[in-house]
Amino acid sequence: MKFRVGLGFDLHRLGPGSHLILGGVEIPHGKSFIAHSDGDVLCHAVVDALLGAAGLGNIGERFPDTDPRYKGMSSLKFLADAASLLSQNGFRVESIDSNILAERPKLLSHFAAMREKISSAIGISIEKVSVKAKTMEGIGMIGTEEAIAAQAVALISFE
Ligand code: MG
Repeated sequence: MKFRVGLGFDLHRLGPGSHLILGGVEIPHGKSFIAHSDGDVLCHAVVDALLGAAGLGNIGERFPDTDPRYKGMSSLKFLADAASLLSQNGFRVESIDSNILAERPKLLSHFAAMREKISSAIGISIEKVSVKAKTMEGIGMIGTEEAIAAQAVALISFE
């Protein structure tokens, strides 16, 4: 068996709102993402990690934000589509690790639900998906709550 790794990163600006979508989970919050899709930076970073590992391009090429079909769409659908693209190309997803970079809200209590949603969308077991979070110590655009970002790595295998 051979392996490849991929790296993903995404950031979205925050604006007035009532909730965030992160890892497919709706989290009550005083701000929301300003984005064409649901702004789910975690799913977007994981999609880019998967596509990058397989050498299959990136999320902007596969799901362009100029396409009205993707407006407001759940990013779990992007994740499921990326996973099936990998599968069609002979790749299997071995593991995902990720960080959410957010000053607020506290996300620990949502990790289990995020891992469940992400692993279901990809079609792998929940133990293969890790979600963590960090604050930025009040510094910069994330620390001052202008944005939330996420980074992810994916390990994939093929024969
Ligand atoms: Mg994005």
